[in-house]
Amino acid sequence: MKVVIVLYALISARAYAASINTGSVEADYETIVVGLGAAGTTAAATLTQAGVRVLALEAMDRVGGRVHTVPFGGGVVEMGAEWIHGTSPSRTYDLATKNGVKLIEQDENTEVYSSDGSRANSSLISELVIQAVGAINEHSDVNESIGEFLTRKLKEYLKEHYPDVLQDKEFLAEVFNLLDQGIGSNEGSSSWNDVTTKGQYQELNGHQYVSWGRNGYKTLFDILLNKYNNGSGLPSLTINLKSEVIKISYSDDPKQKVSVTTADGAVYTADNVIVTVSLGVLKAKHTELFSQPLPQAKLTAIDKISMGVLGKIIFLFPEHWWGKTEDTICFFWKADDRRNVSDEDAWLLKTSWISTPMGSNNALTFWTSGDTAKMVEAIPEDVVKRKLMSLIRRFMGKDVEIPDPIAMTRTTWFHNPYTRGSYTYDNLLTPQYPTARVDLGAPITDSAGNPRVLFAGEATDPQHFSTVHGATDTGHREATRLLERRSG
Ligand SMILES: Cc1cc2nc3c(=O)[nH]c(=O)nc-3n(C[C@H](O)[C@H](O)[C@H](O)COP(=O)(O)OP(=O)(O)OC[C@H]3O[C@@H](n4cnc5c(N)ncnc54)[C@H](O)[C@@H]3O)c2cc1C
Repeated sequence: MKVVIVLYALISARAYAASINTGSVEADYETIVVGLGAAGTTAAATLTQAGVRVLALEAMDRVGGRVHTVPFGGGVVEMGAEWIHGTSPSRTYDLATKNGVKLIEQDENTEVYSSDGSRANSSLISELVIQAVGAINEHSDVNESIGEFLTRKLKEYLKEHYPDVLQDKEFLAEVFNLLDQGIGSNEGSSSWNDVTTKGQYQELNGHQYVSWGRNGYKTLFDILLNKYNNGSGLPSLTINLKSEVIKISYSDDPKQKVSVTTADGAVYTADNVIVTVSLGVLKAKHTELFSQPLPQAKLTAIDKISMGVLGKIIFLFPEHWWGKTEDTICFFWKADDRRNVSDEDAWLLKTSWISTPMGSNNALTFWTSGDTAKMVEAIPEDVVKRKLMSLIRRFMGKDVEIPDPIAMTRTTWFHNPYTRGSYTYDNLLTPQYPTARVDLGAPITDSAGNPRVLFAGEATDPQHFSTVHGATDTGHREATRLLERRSG
């Protein structure tokens, strides 16, 4: 008994030392939240505000997870989530507007540059991109890849409107290459042939690209934790950063507590735990993270749902030398130029989409996805910088002197052990496993039916996965699950 008390005292002392709150640390927690991304922070805040004693354990040295706003060039850039996709019904959007945060609706317009420096065919390519975006939003009852679907749709469109273009195989191949990457930038997929037309994602109503501008997406976390506008925080919530959870032990005995061990050897106990780590982390770690094998339905879900990778490489320039901030820029390779690109530089052929972040007017973001994003994460920074600058000068430098960038930053979501990817997407297996996301989010209960190990996070939202608003909703869902039992 004495040993237990000493251990408990040590743990409490450590928890207090690492805590970013100044409030008192409760030795006994009702709920432990693992991970402080959008899901975990929403869950922790919702429970704390309802009077539940919560300990939140986050492996990284910051709150936010796959939302990460960083200062850049007098403004900010988003290393992770950039936009609120849709405004109604959206807890995320409502939190921003109710707190008076100025949001920016970013319109989509595509400017096309060719590898010979010309703007040839620019309007036709933009038209085909618009056609493709429209076609994706059509409901499909057939499980086929987006690649096959869009290839067919665009060929039909060209046959009707531009029959001559249909004969230009090289031009078509480049259009499809561009659209493949466009799908990648949405899904994090390596190929548009990996993504199903029969996905379960449902768009919210309203504008699909709402930016937090210079406030940054991190503002959402300030609001959730009651720090925005000089808020007093949530003093009764204990947050331990740099606390990687390595073991979650539970049993079906209603009398037993759940215990959670962190990498520094601390052991915390509680009535229940909400696990919000990404699907990438679950895929890599679930066998060692949990004290017993997870239920089969959950294992199937972990196996069958895909984790995509989206990457950004962001340059800061001394001035804004390109077109309008809102425009998306895309690079269209001429077949002859493409043939001259070496195998070593093939990733440049898949880095064709560029945009200006709304929080930093003099910055440009290059987007990568899937296997290309994974590979680019591992290329030395100076090489990435040199190659991308020659790419951008080739496509955009005909009529303008492009200055050297004065700063560069880039993402490593795939190599980050606490994310292991960017977000999930629906693959061709989705129709075969229609309940996978619900199964992933289902709580594990004890023999009396009490939820003991609960799951939240974007991957567990059947209709709004891959987003911050979806992740936020799942955190709220699991907090509500516990609160309803508490009051009932
Ligand atoms: C590049 C990029 C662009 C994106 N763009 C958008 C966008 O424009 N709009 C949009 O809505 N969404 C976007 N997303 C997706 C969005 O960011 C995510 O869906 C959402 O943030 C996920 O939140 P989460 O709480 O489910 O997971 P996470 O944010 O991953 O939170 C889980 C937390 O658990 C922690 N953790 C992991 N393992 C452990 C452990 N063992 N112990 C303790 N803690 C642990 C992690 O460090 C992390 O903080 C983007 C994501 C990326 C990467």
